[in-house]
Amino acid sequence: MLAGFEQTDGCYWCGKEVVTYEKCACNERHAPWSRVIRLGNYEPPLSECILSGKYAAWDVGLEYLGAMLGHQIRGCVPPNSILVPVPMPLSRRFFRGINHTKELALHASRAARMPMRCSLWRREGAPQASKTASARLKMKHNSMLMRPLARVRGKNIVLIDDVLTTGKTIEIASNTLRRAGVVSVRVAVVAVTKMPKKR
Ligand SMILES: [Zn+2]
Repeated sequence: MLAGFEQTDGCYWCGKEVVTYEKCACNERHAPWSRVIRLGNYEPPLSECILSGKYAAWDVGLEYLGAMLGHQIRGCVPPNSILVPVPMPLSRRFFRGINHTKELALHASRAARMPMRCSLWRREGAPQASKTASARLKMKHNSMLMRPLARVRGKNIVLIDDVLTTGKTIEIASNTLRRAGVVSVRVAVVAVTKMPKKR
């Protein structure tokens, strides 16, 4: 499905598509991560590939996307990085019933030849997809915790998620990791929505 798919370069910090010679709109935003790695925008063929996983072969689709992401990660992060899936992610609606970010992270870690560790834990229960964008932005900052024995101090972290929308979830995850003493946080997602970012 993704044969011949080629991504345009995204903004290093927010992952949005960048118009040549123009500064990205996120310019003033101080994100707690050092860059966003993504396969492309959330639009065909990438969105179709993500959605098709829901109805057809979960495992095959996730394996394919995860491996693609892993190959991309490998070229743009320090070799001693650790992949950490974002717990209970935004686009749960696309992959109901399985822990798809963990699956993505697992396949990405194989392709990138970097270890994967489920270091983060989500505190509260409501699924992200059931909330509006504004409700997501109000998500409590203490909603994520480090798992016991997370062993992330001094490490370079690559956060794995499927679709990046408001960035609030990865902001909370990044800050939680930074408080736990990680050296750096990078973010790797399958797709970035083109929805304008609001502060
Ligand atoms: Zn940007």
